[in-house]
Amino acid sequence: MKVGIGYDIHRLVPNRKLVLGGVAIAFEKGPDSHSDGDVLLHAVTDALLGACGAGDIGQHFPNTDARWKNVESRVFVQRAMDFVREAQCKVGNLDATIFADAPKLAPHLSAMKRNLAEFLQVDESQVNLKAGTNEGCDAIGHGDAIAAQVIVLLV
Ligand code: MG
Repeated sequence: MKVGIGYDIHRLVPNRKLVLGGVAIAFEKGPDSHSDGDVLLHAVTDALLGACGAGDIGQHFPNTDARWKNVESRVFVQRAMDFVREAQCKVGNLDATIFADAPKLAPHLSAMKRNLAEFLQVDESQVNLKAGTNEGCDAIGHGDAIAAQVIVLLV
């Protein structure tokens, strides 16, 4: 068994599309980022890479590389899954929390979960997603940023 953790945060700015867990969410702001800025999938990627002892997302997909400009972050997860397969592992389970005071994420969690199960090639019962707020504290609490943390077990 191998365990990995991942964390990501992006600032929210006007005129950017908000995508979380591969799901497009209608909102007045989106992440200031090189790729599509999907914090959940970035944290998932880091958790998978971490469990494989394969470094981090910045090493494999640097934001200075034009190849990753505006790319859908599912590509990062799918590449990280190559390391999982090379390690002759499968995802046992994944648990994640997304931190956002706005927009409300509860209506979108089931679609994100479905996507994650597909990307990780597991049953939906092996994926758990939670959404929390930062209770009005700091940049997340003021609606200026969104973050995610993830833990994954490989078996
Ligand atoms: Mg990121």
